[in-house]
Amino acid sequence: MAAVAVSHVYPLGSRLNEQGRLEVGGCDVVELAREFGTPAYVYAEDDMRARSRAYLEAFRARIERFEVIYASKAFPCTAVYRLFAEEGLSTDVASAGELHLALAGGFEPELIYMHGNNKTPADLDDALEAGVGHIVVDSFDEIDRLRGREARVLVRVTPGIKPSTHSYIQTGQEDSKFGFGLDDVPRAVAACAEAGLQLDGLHAHIGSQVFELEAFERLAEVLVDMGDWPLLNLGGGLGIAYTRDQRPPAIEEYVDALLRHAFEGVTVLCEPGRSLVGSAGVTIYTVGTVKRIPGVRTYVAVDGGMSDNLRPMLYGARYEAEIADRFGGGDQVTIAGMHCESGDILVRDALLDDPRPGDVLVTPATGAYGHAMANNYNALLRPPVIFCKDGDARVVVRRETYDDLTRRDV
Ligand code: PLP
Repeated sequence: MAAVAVSHVYPLGSRLNEQGRLEVGGCDVVELAREFGTPAYVYAEDDMRARSRAYLEAFRARIERFEVIYASKAFPCTAVYRLFAEEGLSTDVASAGELHLALAGGFEPELIYMHGNNKTPADLDDALEAGVGHIVVDSFDEIDRLRGREARVLVRVTPGIKPSTHSYIQTGQEDSKFGFGLDDVPRAVAACAEAGLQLDGLHAHIGSQVFELEAFERLAEVLVDMGDWPLLNLGGGLGIAYTRDQRPPAIEEYVDALLRHAFEGVTVLCEPGRSLVGSAGVTIYTVGTVKRIPGVRTYVAVDGGMSDNLRPMLYGARYEAEIADRFGGGDQVTIAGMHCESGDILVRDALLDDPRPGDVLVTPATGAYGHAMANNYNALLRPPVIFCKDGDARVVVRRETYDDLTRRDV
C-alpha cells in the first residue's frame, strides 16, 4: 500500500506507512504500543519545534521587540521546557511546581513569568528567590503580599472581551476570578507604585481555543489604549483543530491580528500554550472490550479515560479516534474509558473500522491539557510521555508504577 497523508488533526509529518499504520515522528504507533505499553502520550518533537519557529518567524517579520512565551500549563514536562528553551522561547508558570519544572528544564529565570490568581506567599518567595523575570500580579492582596520586595511585575487586566469558546475557558470577561477589571486598573497601578514594585506593563488573556481573530485584534487595541508601557503581554488562546472539520487560523494569521495595531516603543509578548503543543501529541490506547447494544450504541472501551484526558468530561471537548492500523472506518461507536463513571466517555461519535479487543486506538490532538490534567482516579497509573523524531522514540516521562501510588503514604 502506498504511504498516505493523514488529516491536519495529526502531528506534522504523520502518515500511514506501507503497512497502513499510523506513524508519528517517523515511529509506527502500533510498535510503540508493543514496546512501551498503553495508554501513552506520543509526541512528534519536530511538530513542537516547527510551531515555535512559526511564532518566532511571524513576530520577527513584523516587529522588532517581542517575546514568545510558552504557556506551560498546557504541557508542563521537563523535556518540553528544555525543547522550548532550546528554541529561544520564554515560558510562563502558574505555580511554584511549574516553576520547579521550568528551572529543571533549563529555563533562565529571567525568561520566566509567574501567573496565578492566588499565588501563595511560598509561591512568591520561590519565584523571587529563583529570580524570575516578572510576576504577573492578579489581585490587590497579592500586591500587598509583595510590598517592599524587589520585584518586576505586570498587571493582569480582564479586558471585557468574551470570545466564543466554552465558558470554563473564557478568561477575559469582566465576571472572572482573574485579574483586574478595567475600572480597577488605575488603582492597581497606583498600588504597585505605592508597594515599591517595578511595574513594567500589562497582561491580558481572553481565553482558550479561540478562532476569532477579531477578538485578538480588539484585545491588542484595548491594551495599547491603556497608556505607555514598556511591555504588553497579549496572552495566548489560539485554538487548534481537534476534529477534521475545524480550521483554526494559522499562527501567522494570529500574530498578524495581534500586531495589526501599531505598537510604538513596546515589547510585545504573546503566550501560546495549546497552539504550540496540542496538535503535536496523540494518545494511544488498547481496546479491551466492544459492547454492542443493538439499536442503541456500540461501546468501545479502552485502557484509559478521564485519568489521562479530562477535557471531554470537563468541558465537552470533542475528539476523533481511529484504529491505528485501519484508518478511515465507518462504524459509528462511542469510545469509553475504564473508570467507574458513566460520564467517562472520550469520544461520543467516533467512526472506526470494525473495532476489536487488542486493537491500538489513537486519539489525535491530545498534546495540550492531557498529561497536564492527568490524575490517578481509580488508582490508574499515569501514562508515559514519548517523544518521537526521525523514527527514534525516547521516553521523557516514564509510566507510573504501583510503588508510586504508595510512595506518599506515611
Ligand atoms: N496565558 C494565560 C494567563 C492562561 O491562563 C493560559 C491558559 O489558560 C494561556 C496563556 C494559554 O492558553 P492557550 O493554551 O489556549 O494558548
